[in-house]
Amino acid sequence: MALLQISEPGQSTAPHEHRLAAGIDLGTTNSLVATVRSGIAETLADENGLHLLPSVVAYLCDEMPLVGHEAQDRANHDPHNTIASAKRLLGRGLDDVKTLGSQLPYDFIEESGMPRIRTVAGELSPVQISADILRSLKQRAESSLAGDLTGVVITVPAYFDDAQRQATKDAAQLAGLNILRLLNEPTAAAVAYGLDQQAEGIFAIYDLGGGTFDISILRLHQGVFEVMSTGGDSALGGDDIDRMIAEWLLQQAEIGENASPHLLRQILGAARLAKEQLSHHEQADIQLILEDEQKTPWQIQLSREKFDALVDPLISKTLLPCRRALRDAGLNPEDIQEVVMVGGSTRVPRVRERVGEFFQREPHVDIDPDKVVAIGAAIQADILAGNKPDNDMLLLDVVPLSLGIETMGGLVEKIIPRNTTIPVAKAQDFTTFKDGQSAMAVHVLQGERELITDCRSLARFELRDIPPMVAGAARIRVTYQVDADGLLSVSAQEQTTGAHSEISVKPSYGLSDNDIEGMLRDAMTSAQQDAQARTLREQQVEADRVINALRAALKADGHHLLKRSEFENIQQHLDSLLHVTRGDDPQAIKQAIDKLDQVTQEFAARRMDSSIRKAMQGHHVEDFQNEDAAS
Ligand code: ADP
Ligand code: MG
Repeated sequence: MALLQISEPGQSTAPHEHRLAAGIDLGTTNSLVATVRSGIAETLADENGLHLLPSVVAYLCDEMPLVGHEAQDRANHDPHNTIASAKRLLGRGLDDVKTLGSQLPYDFIEESGMPRIRTVAGELSPVQISADILRSLKQRAESSLAGDLTGVVITVPAYFDDAQRQATKDAAQLAGLNILRLLNEPTAAAVAYGLDQQAEGIFAIYDLGGGTFDISILRLHQGVFEVMSTGGDSALGGDDIDRMIAEWLLQQAEIGENASPHLLRQILGAARLAKEQLSHHEQADIQLILEDEQKTPWQIQLSREKFDALVDPLISKTLLPCRRALRDAGLNPEDIQEVVMVGGSTRVPRVRERVGEFFQREPHVDIDPDKVVAIGAAIQADILAGNKPDNDMLLLDVVPLSLGIETMGGLVEKIIPRNTTIPVAKAQDFTTFKDGQSAMAVHVLQGERELITDCRSLARFELRDIPPMVAGAARIRVTYQVDADGLLSVSAQEQTTGAHSEISVKPSYGLSDNDIEGMLRDAMTSAQQDAQARTLREQQVEADRVINALRAALKADGHHLLKRSEFENIQQHLDSLLHVTRGDDPQAIKQAIDKLDQVTQEFAARRMDSSIRKAMQGHHVEDFQNEDAAS
């Protein structure tokens, strides 16, 4: 098993030189920034002494957006321009957003396949909104530390898929932050508790926040800290408790279906206050102003007992993934030695009680459950920035969802099963199914289901230039590699002839195949007139793929493999493809792609030569033969 070394080579610093590094918990509901000062990790407060920054951004006309409490204050009277829970939309395709969007009061639009929210400040992507939150935390850190940050560790839910992780990275980049690493939130919490200081043990991290639930089973063995399994529900948290109470209030106050958004917000706010009160009191008093002519005040009491009965079904819903994570790790509840509570919602006494019953032990609640993730991230950031060159802590993470490839008949073959420890690389061999087949499509999917339509499509690319052979003779090795941040790259190479070409993909969340396929599926039910739309879509997807691949190739090798005039010629054809892609003529797009293909053939050949030369450098032919024999 490959170990992920936290101190990266070449990053250790000269003595006395302390690099400013921070840990950021970019939460759905609240975000925090923390840092290690004089050996102690602590969260940083804003100028009003508040640590939690509500993950809310309010957009204004011609002014800088407001972030946090100030933004939250505007939510009631300007709901369309006050964006909360952007993390739920981060890296999501149109389909996901359509489902989520019906619950959110925002004005969603689609722009070249990407969901955006229309505000007075323009049409904004979830990445841009998250970047505004990160920018605010960056400013807070830099003003309280009086210096520029060298780098940050940002935490993500264990359930985040590739696209969501990539979107988080993009948001950080947009905010001008240097990401040292993405870290799973429960893993960060374990680091905060210093569980690595113990000799041995198996621990469960139960994280119930505002919008997400995560469970992680961690094992400390021979000084190595390993995530054995993870599970959770990316759409379950304290917000659901609020909604549960709000629904109860609607019933009790006999408010009908036509309640205004304003009244609903008032009720949700009252529900949250009541919930928080009930963490310390046996009873909560709830007051509402009804929206009749007289603005009648209305009140009711919610007892702890009634509240417990309301939240019980939600708590039960969190125990299912707990059971599954235990099963994935091959454990029973009694194998867990310690349970750590994370997330604001674990302040609910009933949650603590039932989690304690489930794991048959009293959970740890000593560290503030809101801050524990940011604190762990800060400790990691401090180590990664090179401030602790002697630190030998090792951290292992896992792949949260299986990664597979499309095979004949629309089935998914798993290449990296869920809960595999990262970083990891796995390869599988495939072959051609037609005589003389010169290309093979690789479709990368994520999920547990058997059919491609039930999984999330991450990326597609084509392996071209397979030498003509009879069907079944080619040996195409597809390699999946997940790096320490949980990001995937996939490559394919033809093995039998010795010549190989290789393409790497990074899944892009912008125009995901899933979004397009979803639209296609809808389209096909209304048959004929949609056939044209389908062809157009396919061509646009193909064009997108070609454009992205070519841009990457030009960036990597254009300057040293092409003469200026050749470069300009390719650029010109690239521009005309871009132009027709925006139109609605699939035939024109196809022609432009073919043309571009023609003018880049020489470039592709030079690239292949140069990469083979690189691969051969310092090797003897026997090395390759040996490698082959070993595989
Ligand atoms: P996230 O990780 O999703 O950003 P947090 O860990 O900050 O979320 O938790 C936010 C949730 O915790 C909200 O739903 C909030 O209402 C809830 N919460 C905060 N304090 C309490 C409390 N005292 N009792 C119950 N729930 C609380
Ligand atoms: Mg959280």
